[in-house]
Amino acid sequence: MAKWLTRSAAARIFGGSIPSLRLLYSFKKRIKEGFLYYFMAYIVRKKINGGEYYYLRESYRENGKIKSKNLAYLGKSKEEADRKAFEFINMEKKKSEIMVQEKKSVEVKKEITKEADKDFISFVQEQGLIWGPEPEIYGGLSGFYTYGPLGKLLKNKVENSVRQIFNRHGLREIEGPTVLPDIVWKASGHLDTFSDRIIKCKKCNAVFRADKLIEEKYDVSADSFSNEKILEFIHEKGIKCPTCKGDFEDKIERQSLMMKTKVAGQDAALRPETATVTYLPYPRFYNYFRTKMPFGVFQIGKAYRNEISPRQSVLRGREFTQAEGQMFVDPQKKNEWESYEEIKQSKLPFWDYTSQNENKEVKLITVEDALKKGFIKSQAYGWCIWLAYSQFINFGIPADRIRLRQHHPDEKAFYADDAWDVELRLNNYGWTEVCGVHDRTDYDLTQHSKFSKVKLEAQRENGEKFVPHVLEIAFGTDRPTYALIDIFYEKKSEEEGKSVFKIPYHMAPIEVSIFPLMKKPELTNLAKEIKSDLEKGFIVEYDESASVGKRYLRSSVSGVPYAITIDYTSVEDQTVTVRDRDSAEQIRVKIKDLRDILRKLIHSEIEFESAGKLI
Ligand SMILES: [Zn+2]
Repeated sequence: MAKWLTRSAAARIFGGSIPSLRLLYSFKKRIKEGFLYYFMAYIVRKKINGGEYYYLRESYRENGKIKSKNLAYLGKSKEEADRKAFEFINMEKKKSEIMVQEKKSVEVKKEITKEADKDFISFVQEQGLIWGPEPEIYGGLSGFYTYGPLGKLLKNKVENSVRQIFNRHGLREIEGPTVLPDIVWKASGHLDTFSDRIIKCKKCNAVFRADKLIEEKYDVSADSFSNEKILEFIHEKGIKCPTCKGDFEDKIERQSLMMKTKVAGQDAALRPETATVTYLPYPRFYNYFRTKMPFGVFQIGKAYRNEISPRQSVLRGREFTQAEGQMFVDPQKKNEWESYEEIKQSKLPFWDYTSQNENKEVKLITVEDALKKGFIKSQAYGWCIWLAYSQFINFGIPADRIRLRQHHPDEKAFYADDAWDVELRLNNYGWTEVCGVHDRTDYDLTQHSKFSKVKLEAQRENGEKFVPHVLEIAFGTDRPTYALIDIFYEKKSEEEGKSVFKIPYHMAPIEVSIFPLMKKPELTNLAKEIKSDLEKGFIVEYDESASVGKRYLRSSVSGVPYAITIDYTSVEDQTVTVRDRDSAEQIRVKIKDLRDILRKLIHSEIEFESAGKLI
């Protein structure tokens, strides 16, 4: 995408004489006041009074004519110009992604202004949360991202929280391979059916996901439309190619989402989900868990899908991290679920499909009532829904941003008996699916038994053999990580100062900042001692540059809950000040108690005011 144009090519495209330019980004759609148009940006070098100046220019077609304008000043050297141009273009790309998605939900549109978009995107990039699509320096390939240092720390927190909750409820973690021979995917059904319906533009040959094309413009669930209905809808509403406004071909094809490869001459594929891989060692599990049902295992790991045209940052990647829990159960015991008693009184935000159809609101009802009303079919399934919900509460997501949405009968996978999603209300994208809870019945084990010719069974105490059912809690760690950024980024007005990242304290990527008041050895030596002690339990940021006020600010922008300052009193009496991110209050704490107090504060086990002397 990024290449130098020859002078003659430049002249052909733009006309006139242009000294030297570099094409950075071309013919990508961008949205301006609701319209799509071609976007072409290039770097221009100008010589003025012997000095060199670089600019980013844009050319576009308007009423058939090519027009140009300066987008940004890029500095005085080629290197600086390259860097600044990429930054600028990435920002533009992200903005248009968000604006495309914004149409979907009218209620969201009110919440975010264009100004806020820009701030949010630069926050995500500048704080080292998420970068991409990667490789950025080569123009980027949609659906692949890098988590920067702060983003990776946050994602680790999310994954550890998932581990903690699954383990606490008796599920154990495994790690299977990410590449498997085709026979596995033949058995699971992925090879034959895991595909999206695509439609091609007659004019520019661009390919789109047929159902998404409709859903982006109209509030319908086109996923359940037949091919004929999709074509009819596109024709009736006059939907044109978003890239060139051309007409679509009169047919719909399927494109597989599997990423194919070859291993030792054999056809194989990268896994599109961790679930299938988790079912394969079933005989091993059965022995490991001493032949007693139910038992559960989970996997956190990468999966790959060749999505047609992914957008929405890490919400829809082609490479992503899944976190899927699988419970193996005796179908006859689904309503004799031991842990059900403990959770049946929990009220959860159930939104059944009849309420969705009738535009009724989400009901907060107990799991027991949901079972009585027939929203869910078994105690075991109710427990899985509760566990999925608990994961999101444990991440610190406010309860009013979580709902459980039942699948419509025509939206369910053919093997799923019960199917509900957990959805979160995001500031940038509205209600977004983040987890699916499915009763997969005996589908998977039966299929793999058929293809592998290995019996995948269990035995009851009376000697009866049966194929276990699988209840699945399927989510990932990219969406929750993104959700935490989206929900807890707080833009402040000009007068209030810099924006803050109000991430819940227990999920903060960096937990403690340490500031020696001044860069003097008597202070920095003590500060470094404290640092190495705290690093035994926390991720610590040490900062000795700029004024303390500026350092506090930097620390709150990256969401650090507590900042510790070492001053001259610290040297005398072995105490330090601890500053709370959200209240800006400060207490004085003995250095020897510091590690313990911080741990309790971060996990809300003590009140800040009572943790030390308020100053
Ligand atoms: Zn087109």
